[in-house]
Formats: sequence, C-alpha cells, structure tokens
Amino acid sequence: MEILEKIGDAASKTYKFTAEKTSKIAKETKIKMQINEYKGDIKDIYIEIGEYVYEKFVKGEKTDLEELNQRCEEIQILSDKIVNCKNEILKLNEKRQCKNCYAEIEISANYCPNCGFKQEKEEEKSEQQEESKEEEEIKKEENE
Ligand SMILES: [Zn+2]
Repeated sequence: MEILEKIGDAASKTYKFTAEKTSKIAKETKIKMQINEYKGDIKDIYIEIGEYVYEKFVKGEKTDLEELNQRCEEIQILSDKIVNCKNEILKLNEKRQCKNCYAEIEISANYCPNCGFKQEKEEEKSEQQEESKEEEEIKKEENE
C-alpha cells in the first residue's frame, strides 16, 4: 500500500514538472510572438518614414522634423518593449544577461563565466520601477 502511494507521489511530481515545463514553453512562445509583432510594427514605421520623406521630396516640401522625431520615438518605445520581452524570456529560463558581454548566464551567478564581470544582485526595487514604468506606458496609450 505504502509503495503504491509512493509511486503515485512520484508520478504526480513528474506530471507537475512536465506541466510546469510545458507552460514555460507556452509562455516563451507567446512572448516570442509578441516580439515578432513589435518587430513588424517597427518595420511598418520604417516604411512609413521612408514614404513620408519621399513624398515630401516629390512635392518639393520640407520634411517636418518633429513629425520624424515622433515616429522615431515610437520605434524607441517598441524597442524598449522588445528588450523587456527578452528579459522576461531570460527570467522564465532562470537566466540573465551579463551587463558587460551580454552572454546568457545563470540568474544566480555572481560572476559571468564568459568574461568574469561581477554581477549585480537582482534587486526587487528595480523590478518595481520597471513595472510602474510599464503602467505609465499603458496609461499613456489609453490616453491617446
Ligand atoms: Zn560577461
């Protein structure tokens, strides 16, 4: 009886592990799709900028720098979002990026195995700051 219980226990543990792994992969896939969407958005803006500049050239008009700056800022925001997504994937896999050589390293590593750079301890504070930044962005988007 006891043995059977133990077997059941082990089986459920394995199941849990697999389920966790599967949901991790699903999450990572979802984030990667999001990244591709952002990349597509950036490409669209590049094209729009090009068309805008050419149109102005054809019409013999001056390009509005403010207009262009605004489009560039949009690209910047999307790029930041991509960086955040990539960091999320790293976190999912319990990895982080070395700030010196950008190698993927274990989240618990104190030193980069690639370049030996001392890693900062992950502080919860900076995470909260990031979150509030994201919230601000969402608020901004809602206002637009
Ligand atoms: Zn490094």
